Amino acid sequence: MLHQASPKNPLSYIDPQPDSPWQTYLAQVDRVLPYLGDLARWGETLRRPKRALIVDVPIEMDDGTVQHFEGYRVQHNLSRGPGKGGVRYHPQVTLEEVMALSAWMTVKNAAVGLPFGGAKGGIRVEPSRLSRKELERLTRRYTSEIGIIIGPQQDIPAPDVNTNAQIMAWMMDTYSMNIGGTATGVVTGKPVQLGGSLGRVKATGRGVFVTGREAARRINLPLEGARVAVQGFGNVGSTAAELFAQAGAKLVAVQDHTGALQSEQGLDVAALQAHVLQHGGVAGFKGGQAIAADDFWSVACDILIPAALEGQVTEARARQTTARLVLEGANGPTLPGADDILAERGVLVVPDVICNAGGVTVSYFEWVQDFSSFFWSEDEINARLDKILGGAFLHIWDTADRLKVSLRTAAFVVACERVLEARAERGLYP
Ligand code: GLU
Repeated sequence: MLHQASPKNPLSYIDPQPDSPWQTYLAQVDRVLPYLGDLARWGETLRRPKRALIVDVPIEMDDGTVQHFEGYRVQHNLSRGPGKGGVRYHPQVTLEEVMALSAWMTVKNAAVGLPFGGAKGGIRVEPSRLSRKELERLTRRYTSEIGIIIGPQQDIPAPDVNTNAQIMAWMMDTYSMNIGGTATGVVTGKPVQLGGSLGRVKATGRGVFVTGREAARRINLPLEGARVAVQGFGNVGSTAAELFAQAGAKLVAVQDHTGALQSEQGLDVAALQAHVLQHGGVAGFKGGQAIAADDFWSVACDILIPAALEGQVTEARARQTTARLVLEGANGPTLPGADDILAERGVLVVPDVICNAGGVTVSYFEWVQDFSSFFWSEDEINARLDKILGGAFLHIWDTADRLKVSLRTAAFVVACERVLEARAERGLYP
């Protein structure tokens, strides 16, 4: 009904494509509305991004030719504060994907209680095909193009898939050059010398560990000896694997875009990290047995951590996994049908909007430190992260218990109540 097509407007940009991340998000919203009481009258707010900017990003390549890339910045909701969310460089980035990712940031920030709205950006590009200079030109031009809607009080980008501290440094510099000052608070995830925060690089993986530890305790799953399977061995997956291994768990399987491995005794996480740094992926690592990519999902494990892209946990894979606990390191890794199958099978899912919120939580610390120009120690950051995420997890766990719903629906209830209350209190302008 809400997305009815008309002859004049056959396809609005908010109409979802089947099985797309935006459709997954809308299905999650449908599940939460019945629990929102009177606030549900503002529910349409959740289905419509406040603002979506599409930008052309032309750059001069090293060979003198000019190439155009398509970039986006979507501000899904700004009711609770400035927009906040990462920037992704990936060949499959679309407006619709960025819309979904921005909406999940709205929910994530509210679920954790951070004073931010939700936003996300991206460029459709395969960054590994660009030289360092081309990557810099791409980043600087993109930043200039979205400069009309970002700012320390407006919308604060951060790293996401294939972006890192160096890219944040170029974004900060470009924005600063354009305003004629140095605005460290315009992005987070910067190098520490430029107003970055200690602990930010590992924060997302650390959050996966903290929320995973809390969940495991509640289902009597000891971490000592637990078998962990990780999909995606980038910043999030590799840090989560490292922290689980430190707690006595075994990394029994890993899969990324280059291949998949298993080992019953457990893979040596530090050696695998060194291999990935050198070769760009897990393929070719000698400390485990290579398996077909699809066999990854049926390796016997207790904890499954999808830490790659959206839509990876399909219905078939949800039936296949032997895990008791799924920790969503990625954004949107589980399709709604797969969510139901996991629930029926008694598998506990810690949803992305709380599980991977460690990154944006330390981004919040970074933003606060930049404003006060007073920087905290790494121990202080990790302790505060643990406290905030542990507290948010407890609140969502109790909500799930009270309403007899999944942790995902509970997280959405907690978050959407906060967002829509802010929306209702602010009122409509004009
Ligand atoms: N890209 C991360 C996420 O998906 C972090 C965003 C941020 O720090 O603003 O949560």
